[in-house]
Amino acid sequence: MGDYSLECLYCGSVYNDDYQLACDRNHEPAFLRTRYSTKQLKHLNVSGMFKFCEWLPCNKILNLGGLPATYKSETLGRELGLKNLYVSFSGYWPEKNAYMETCSFKELEAPPTIARASEIKNEILVVASAGNTGRAFGQFLSKTGYPGYIVVPESGLEMMWLLEEPAENVKLIAVKGDYSDAISISNKIASFKGFIKEGGAKNVARRDGMGTVMLEFVATTKRIPDSYFQVIGSGTGAIATWEAVLRLIEDSRFGYKKPELHLSQNHPFKPIYTSWKQGSRKLVKIDESTARKQIEENFAKVLTNRNPPYSIIGGVYDALKDTNGEMYSVTNEEAIAAKKLFKEIEEIDILPAASVCFASLIQAMEKGNVEKEDLILLNITGGGFERLKEDYSVKYMQPDIIVDKNTNLGEILELGS
Ligand SMILES: *Cc1c(COP(=O)(O)O)cnc(C)c1O
Ligand SMILES: [Zn+2]
Repeated sequence: MGDYSLECLYCGSVYNDDYQLACDRNHEPAFLRTRYSTKQLKHLNVSGMFKFCEWLPCNKILNLGGLPATYKSETLGRELGLKNLYVSFSGYWPEKNAYMETCSFKELEAPPTIARASEIKNEILVVASAGNTGRAFGQFLSKTGYPGYIVVPESGLEMMWLLEEPAENVKLIAVKGDYSDAISISNKIASFKGFIKEGGAKNVARRDGMGTVMLEFVATTKRIPDSYFQVIGSGTGAIATWEAVLRLIEDSRFGYKKPELHLSQNHPFKPIYTSWKQGSRKLVKIDESTARKQIEENFAKVLTNRNPPYSIIGGVYDALKDTNGEMYSVTNEEAIAAKKLFKEIEEIDILPAASVCFASLIQAMEKGNVEKEDLILLNITGGGFERLKEDYSVKYMQPDIIVDKNTNLGEILELGS
């Protein structure tokens, strides 16, 4: 277990893991990717995501981190006219054996990231989040006792609930501004001694953690799907899925054809959609005030990353190209209608972001982008919060400090850990 190295997708340099987020050499931006010595999918007899630890970049097996429920939906399939529609549900849904208590697939990123950081660096982890990532890290930093600072825009505070009181080792910093402002403050904090940047999509632990959605699907069906549907903000989950597929193809037991990635964004803030539709590898520029206005209007606020890893080598553009993928734009009205329909059919609530994804599947049907017999994986990236509240009373994390871009960051450091 844990036998892996990191390889630069541009120059091929290979590294032992020292918690790098990028290649040392000076060249255009490119991801590092894990190369595992284990070439066949294995799952250990442990519960949760660490059953796939052979393909996670850490040595510890944490008894943490649920897995999504993966099931064939006859009901949704019938409604849409699809014969082989599978749902991966990341959230709380005890009736389907789904116990992801932070109610989103960000719960797959936090445990391996914390394990990797604690094994290699043991410094305070700084995580920027629009909300769902912050909640997942809040929960798992609390459970593991590993120190971390979580930086969220004020709009994300309503997403910062936990089942238990947060532990002392977790500090919450609220930023006046949007998600991208939170990212920029978190970068400043992480540059101080004793802190490490969690790194977002560049962190292989985050990507490989999210890759377990596809691993669990293939462990269930024994086949790589024809099409994969996901809503994206940064696209980290989609890149992770593509990378998991490349490993599964090397495995050779589950098929050789890559699934088409059908990725969606919420109108009006949809820089990846627009760039892809223009055939551009460069991300289109949206001026800042327009972007802020658009973000304000979006139903799914977690999707509002202004600097997603789209152009970088190994990023969203490459994932779409390599899989013959497609992008969708979904309006708030479509998303809200899809949320309602999903609830009626499946009898579970889904998060706004996930409803954008379900709406994109409806669009794909209308456009004839999928065939009736296709094996389709619909990634419902978050849900079951209403269901969770029937069983638990949640507690909201209070910010330790509220900052803006003029705040002296010394004040933040005084929070300690
Ligand atoms: C973060 C998030 C997404 C988008 O994930 P990417 O990292 O952009 O792939 C989708 N749905 C939910 C519920 C999320 O929290
Ligand atoms: Zn390199």
